[in-house]
Amino acid sequence: MNTSAMVFRQLFEPVSSTYTYLLGCSETREAVLIDPVMPAWQRDLQVVNELGLRLVMTIDTHIHADHITSASMLRREAGSRVAIPALDALPCTDVPIHDGVPLQVGGVRIDPMHTPGHTDNHFALLAGDRVFTGDALLIDGCGRTDFQSGDPRALYESVRGRLFTLPGETLVYPGHDYQGRWVSSIAQEKQRNPRLGADRTLEDFVELMANLDLPYPKFIDYAVPGNRLCGQCPPDLPEHLRQYCQEMAESPQG
Ligand code: FE
Repeated sequence: MNTSAMVFRQLFEPVSSTYTYLLGCSETREAVLIDPVMPAWQRDLQVVNELGLRLVMTIDTHIHADHITSASMLRREAGSRVAIPALDALPCTDVPIHDGVPLQVGGVRIDPMHTPGHTDNHFALLAGDRVFTGDALLIDGCGRTDFQSGDPRALYESVRGRLFTLPGETLVYPGHDYQGRWVSSIAQEKQRNPRLGADRTLEDFVELMANLDLPYPKFIDYAVPGNRLCGQCPPDLPEHLRQYCQEMAESPQG
């Protein structure tokens, strides 16, 4: 299917500043959610329903450290199948994601691209003229590489050797943005990404990533085990972290 005939929504979850993407087939009415987040699962399902779509699959680009996926919740509530990178070998996976093996949702074809570096098993997802870059490539940035088998050398190769070989007009939809930016393009990131664009060398990038001096991720010790179970909220969550599992208070979708 031409992506102009694809139903598409970009949804934002404010606790972790995560973008969730809804891709639907306008003919079969089947839909997929990329990187759905626990506190927003009801909002996301409502959007799917309002568009007259049926959720058949969720896809996680990687094992997240900053939020809990709603994949299991949506499987239970909507009957969707859980797609996770095969390399993670999670027993709760319904659809193992492999590089170069397309996922088909009605007429929507999604091509998984193994893009390690943020995590070793990270995937970007290409759907026609759009690429969902997860935490490999962000707008004017990239995901951190200091946890979860992160490797700046691998990320440099994933972005410059792989994502940057896509056509320049390919739209870049990131896994997060912390400054209200929604979309970029491969041409724009190649030109002006301050970490990975223009003439940044591998050595520049490795040094830059080694000196970011970022704080320890505050939710990682709960998120990673929860996501290795395809999205289980831990029962022992401290008060100040409960927002990660509580339902979204307000829906920006109305
Ligand atoms: Fe991540």
